[in-house]
Amino acid sequence: MKNVSYDIIIGGGGAAGRILLFFLSNYSSFSSKKILFIEEENKLADKTWCFWEKGNHPFQHLVSSKWDLLNFEAENFQTQQSIFPYSYSCIRGEEFDSFFTETFFPSWKNISYLKSSVKHSSFEDNQWRIQTNTSTFFCNEYVSNLPTEKHHSCLLQQFYGEYITFSRQTFERNAATLMDFSEGCQGKFQFFYVLPIDENSALIECTYYYDQLIQKDVFKSQLDAYISKRFGTDYKINAEEYGVIPLLEKTQIDHTYKKVPILIGQSAGMIKPSTGYAFQRMVEDAQLLARMMEGEITRRTRPRRFHIYDRLLLSIIREDAPKATYIFKKLFSKKKISDILLFLDEDTTFVQELALFLHLPWWPFLKRIKNLK
Ligand SMILES: Cc1cc2nc3c(=O)[nH]c(=O)nc-3n(C[C@H](O)[C@H](O)[C@H](O)COP(=O)(O)OP(=O)(O)OC[C@H]3O[C@@H](n4cnc5c(N)ncnc54)[C@H](O)[C@@H]3O)c2cc1C
Repeated sequence: MKNVSYDIIIGGGGAAGRILLFFLSNYSSFSSKKILFIEEENKLADKTWCFWEKGNHPFQHLVSSKWDLLNFEAENFQTQQSIFPYSYSCIRGEEFDSFFTETFFPSWKNISYLKSSVKHSSFEDNQWRIQTNTSTFFCNEYVSNLPTEKHHSCLLQQFYGEYITFSRQTFERNAATLMDFSEGCQGKFQFFYVLPIDENSALIECTYYYDQLIQKDVFKSQLDAYISKRFGTDYKINAEEYGVIPLLEKTQIDHTYKKVPILIGQSAGMIKPSTGYAFQRMVEDAQLLARMMEGEITRRTRPRRFHIYDRLLLSIIREDAPKATYIFKKLFSKKKISDILLFLDEDTTFVQELALFLHLPWWPFLKRIKNLK
């Protein structure tokens, strides 16, 4: 690589780096900026992103499935609701990857893609110096998606899923199951979810929030037992999905320009600690960040109280999984799913949050407030 000086370097590209480039490319100044996108490995194709949105999504063209109805189930409780004005949507990692590899990157000659590992970054003589395992690069703005020491992971969201097909009509195409706790929790915070692809096929997953890794064969036997009990045994497995998301307790977005990198993705706390959802948060954050880098706004912030709610809930999940399961059941039995999605989007007012908390047992939350640092 001849030219070692760039306007922007994105270190540890990933999904967040691509989403940021997508929004930056809407600005007329973009084509004149020299950009280097570095990532160790492209693992996008291994993921399936689900999120809820209100229509006109910037990545609408990549959405492979949508559901207007959501189910929630727990022991002795079941509800199915329309989530209007939201739809629950799904983007396959493979399609996201092909869009960027085949369409986006080739159409922007100002972006160089480098498959390499970032070893070190420092701010010296008014510019960033980025060291990879083979070269050194310099830039004015350094955007980083690499883990930092500020982050502390207390729980791992682990999931194993199977894309399955029945030869008969089995699923309600327009209804996904967001959470199904009805199999009981055996002391762990665990649920299943069901995403129908059509009447015959679905992605069905088993999820655990736990501090130690669950063996894949444990996951598989539980998932297969769930599918057999719910839908029957005459299905074919087409593909599998396995993932681990660290649920980070202490995260912060650095707002300062220059001396610290601009953090994105999981490094910027975009994985919501209590749910593991990140895609829509990364989309919203990248829109703000693009505006910030173009000088339209000076800060990108989220109200701090949501971070406190997340940490309290995460601490209940870690210390008392059956209570956490009960809290979810209580919440979904008292509030509309669309209201809960609004809260998880962090778009509620404090008064709306109080109305929501009114239905929950207060003590598990109150007794943990004093432990928050
Ligand atoms: C299997 C799976 C399924 C998920 N499903 C959902 C979902 O349904 N909905 C949702 O909202 N969220 C979901 N998430 C959470 C979240 O959306 C993803 O983790 C998302 O990919 C995070 O984006 P990111 O850019 O921060 O990280 P990644 O996309 O993981 O990118 C990190 C990048 O950093 C690179 N890298 C690491 N170290 C270095 C280094 N030293 N030098 C250079 N590059 C480096 C890696 O190669 C990678 O390209 C899921 C996560 C997983 C793991």
